[in-house]
Amino acid sequence: MHSLRELVSSQFNLPVSCYRHCSNQAKLILLSASEQPLGCFVCPSGYISRVVLYFEGGKVNTKLMKDLLSRYADKLGGIRDSDIRIASRHPWDLNIDSSAETLLQEVYWTQNYKREENNLRPALFLCSNCNSFFIQPVNSSSSLCEKCRKS
Ligand SMILES: [Zn+2]
Ligand SMILES: [Zn+2]
Repeated sequence: MHSLRELVSSQFNLPVSCYRHCSNQAKLILLSASEQPLGCFVCPSGYISRVVLYFEGGKVNTKLMKDLLSRYADKLGGIRDSDIRIASRHPWDLNIDSSAETLLQEVYWTQNYKREENNLRPALFLCSNCNSFFIQPVNSSSSLCEKCRKS
């Protein structure tokens, strides 16, 4: 049996379109910041369209996601419960031979940006250099956080 992290990096690494932000593709970047595998779907400008926490079997924990985002909640205008969802992945979804009912569960937060909104609205980005979260106006195309921009 693969580790959860291996499973995630082998199964969910297909590029997806950058949800509601730009016409580029977003790819999965796995971070090691938390005990649970933590993934972000990030487009070339660093915009995060989705943050995903992966849990083994049925041990999903939505509070962890809220805690993770709580530092940024104010600037982002609040993290709504309705923007945090749970998905279950079964062996037959992933074509994996396993007797487990549920292989893993995802808690995911989708950054809900509406195109018609102000281009200066703060949004969550991932620094392409140090892999940390940072906030900048949604229309910015710098993929570096403030610290990395200075050095
Ligand atoms: Zn984008
Ligand atoms: Zn950085």
